[in-house]
Amino acid sequence: MATSMADIKVDLLLRGGRVIDPATGRDGVADVAVTENRIVAVDPNIPAEIARTVIDVSGKLVTAGLIDTHAHVYQHVTGRFGLAPDLVGVQSGVTTIVDQGGPSCMTFPGFRNYIVEPAKSRVLCFISAYLVGGLEGHLYPELYGPHQVNVEHTVKAARENVDIVRGVKAHAEIGQASRWGLEVIKLGKRIAREAGLPLYIHLGQLWPVKDGAQIDADELVREIVPLMDEGDVLAHPFTRHPGGFVSSETHEVHPIVWAALERGVTADVGHGSHFSFEMAQKVLSAGIKPFTLGADMHGYNVRVPDAKDEGARSSNPFFGVAPFNLTHAMTELLTLGMALPEIIATVTSNPARMLRMTDKIGTLQAGREADISVMDILDGRFELKDNSGNRMVAPQMIVPVFALRAGERFDAVSPLVPVPTRVAA
Ligand SMILES: [Zn+2]
Repeated sequence: MATSMADIKVDLLLRGGRVIDPATGRDGVADVAVTENRIVAVDPNIPAEIARTVIDVSGKLVTAGLIDTHAHVYQHVTGRFGLAPDLVGVQSGVTTIVDQGGPSCMTFPGFRNYIVEPAKSRVLCFISAYLVGGLEGHLYPELYGPHQVNVEHTVKAARENVDIVRGVKAHAEIGQASRWGLEVIKLGKRIAREAGLPLYIHLGQLWPVKDGAQIDADELVREIVPLMDEGDVLAHPFTRHPGGFVSSETHEVHPIVWAALERGVTADVGHGSHFSFEMAQKVLSAGIKPFTLGADMHGYNVRVPDAKDEGARSSNPFFGVAPFNLTHAMTELLTLGMALPEIIATVTSNPARMLRMTDKIGTLQAGREADISVMDILDGRFELKDNSGNRMVAPQMIVPVFALRAGERFDAVSPLVPVPTRVAA
């Protein structure tokens, strides 16, 4: 630390945590100093005397503010589907959330005014390729055909709102293909190309297949993946539904997926209720690592406080009972054998690249806005469950403690953070 530092008074010092910042390669014990909304220093041994407030974070993990690349927070407008942004965001230790396909060109002004502006979390989105956006979590398939897409208006909405719109969301799944073939996904790709944004596609089933139609999920993957370019994102690689990275014929990763990843297409976990330990193990052991880790929480796959209509939730195809959130998904990847710094990259530096915001978020450096996440890594034996009935025992559990969003502190009090379940040795 430069001696001139001793003169500077800082507002806050996070002292003694393990700082992991894949963007700079830092991994070690360091202090982080914050003044107002900015990080002013990251360094071992910053003298405590220079700070107005010191928080001892020794033994804890300190990272750039976590980024959840797959959220559903268009609350009320998307019905039971959209969660309150700050429950998924700052109150869960996450400073940036990316709504995937909730807002559309028709509903964008509401998203900006009622969600992005009042939220304490930084809220971004991948705009829906469809006119209506993600109403009720895309419950009604008739709303998602080629005649329900307007390329010109969606491109215009994306361009006019680049501060929030960082990509385009569409689906590549068998229910849609059974009705309209590849027409809709091709329109989605056109929107992305004309807007100069990445396309994020949902793999795996979403809508029921049209009566009488026969669709080969593997064949669909083989047709769609080649449409994806560098920077585009394939979501839900580990889905237990047909149409993920693993072929239901060969039980191996589709060769075409490898080719796509080689040309710079990336994989987002998009955890949700369909994350399968078995599929994840298979894809990871084949050597494929997810680039980003979206939690994909929504009103049907997590238990929302004081929800009134539990029947509607449990009858939804994406209903899930296994509790999860972003840090829980991090724990699962850790248990499945990914290294901690690699996992931290999936929620900090990599999503910053996906969002093309590496100059703003995803790293802990002096001069940056003070978006910081602090987590505990608990030791013990913790039960992890997926919705296929598989279980794992995690020797370590990552839980959020608090986050600073632009220097403001938020404790991780969200009821959506799962309570760790310890199992007997
Ligand atoms: Zn989703």
